[in-house]
Amino acid sequence: MNYRYRIYPNITQEQSLLEWMDVCRVAYNYGLREIKDWCNSRKCMVDRCSIVHEYIMAADSPFPSEVKQLNALPNAKKVFPRLGEVPSQVLQQAIKQLHRAWDGFQKVGHGFPRFKKFGQFKSLLFPQFKQNPVQGVHIALPKLGMIPINLHRPIPSGFVVKQVRIINKADRWYADINIQCDVNVPNPMPHGHPIGVDIGLEKFLATSDGVLVKSPKFLKVMQSKLKLLQRRLSRKKKRSFNYEKQRIKVARLHHTIDNTRKDFHFKQAHALCGAGDMVFMEDLDYRTLAKGMLGKQMLDSEAVASLRASAGFGQFRTITKYLCWKRGKFFGEVNALGTSQECPECGATVKKDLSVRVHHCQECGFIADRDVTSGLVIRNRGIELISTAGHAGIQNAYADGLPGAEVSQSRSKSKTRKGATRKAKK
Ligand SMILES: [Zn+2]
Repeated sequence: MNYRYRIYPNITQEQSLLEWMDVCRVAYNYGLREIKDWCNSRKCMVDRCSIVHEYIMAADSPFPSEVKQLNALPNAKKVFPRLGEVPSQVLQQAIKQLHRAWDGFQKVGHGFPRFKKFGQFKSLLFPQFKQNPVQGVHIALPKLGMIPINLHRPIPSGFVVKQVRIINKADRWYADINIQCDVNVPNPMPHGHPIGVDIGLEKFLATSDGVLVKSPKFLKVMQSKLKLLQRRLSRKKKRSFNYEKQRIKVARLHHTIDNTRKDFHFKQAHALCGAGDMVFMEDLDYRTLAKGMLGKQMLDSEAVASLRASAGFGQFRTITKYLCWKRGKFFGEVNALGTSQECPECGATVKKDLSVRVHHCQECGFIADRDVTSGLVIRNRGIELISTAGHAGIQNAYADGLPGAEVSQSRSKSKTRKGATRKAKK
């Protein structure tokens, strides 16, 4: 589990943390340059003369692998003394991060790793500790000494601190403490009351039990405030003192918005876990997939709308997954295709565009709210998924870092067969 605490470094500590981040950034960029040069030198343009393109690298020079780059660090420190300022394990993590990004590009299908600009490297990972770094109201970090920490909740007994990640957000500092415990947590099995959850734009969510939650208003209010601050920022002279002051104001508001949204997501997810024992959600990934592979024409207006907002929804799904795991509830993802066009009672297709808010089935006369209907369809599909596909097609919830950390496996999921073995459960 990861617990995040706020820390209060003094000015010298803050300066060295910022300096270390920049050194790590430079090391990251250097490593990436090596990889890029290697890749470029493997390309050969037959019709181009070497004035346009030439990389002087022996054809048999090996790929700058993780091990190779890590081993090169001690020598690099002699040439660039700046590298020596950073604790060596922290610096190594920057290279490891680069190769994780590279593997993500090679195997998972993420984008090519990018160079990081000044200020884009915002966290440092301390991967190992000989003894518990949290001592009383301080956290002890190598080369920095004691930093005051706000332990707003105690680290539970029986847990060992494995890693600490120091994060800089706006002008605040946080420590993400990774704690581990030698307990085997069984993955929750399907049981009890099922809930299908439909996430949308008009309403934040609708469940199969008929609960409707409106989209939070605070985002709109804060967005307009943000616009104002950004406008002021754009009128400041770049790199001036006032620019920097305004930049921090903008960053702080971004941070507040993130926190407020996350808080809202956690509250909603807790409410879902409290209401049922199995939570089913749409799997939106295929839409992102469809966008890349088939182009935008394939997507109807509804899909595009949810795609636009999917950043926030992705976080909500990750949080719900995590909370389900933590509270022993079952979490499942179902195929999202056409959930709003299907009748949950008889399985007939009821075409309706976004403006139609009520589902009225011509076949069986079932009438309900549009979003609740989607929730019902999702619940039915979820029940079908666990009864027909067994556990083969179901992902287990996991609990590592929040948003963005997960690798989607939804592509390999079994598809639900439409109307084949549906058990309409009421
Ligand atoms: Zn019907």
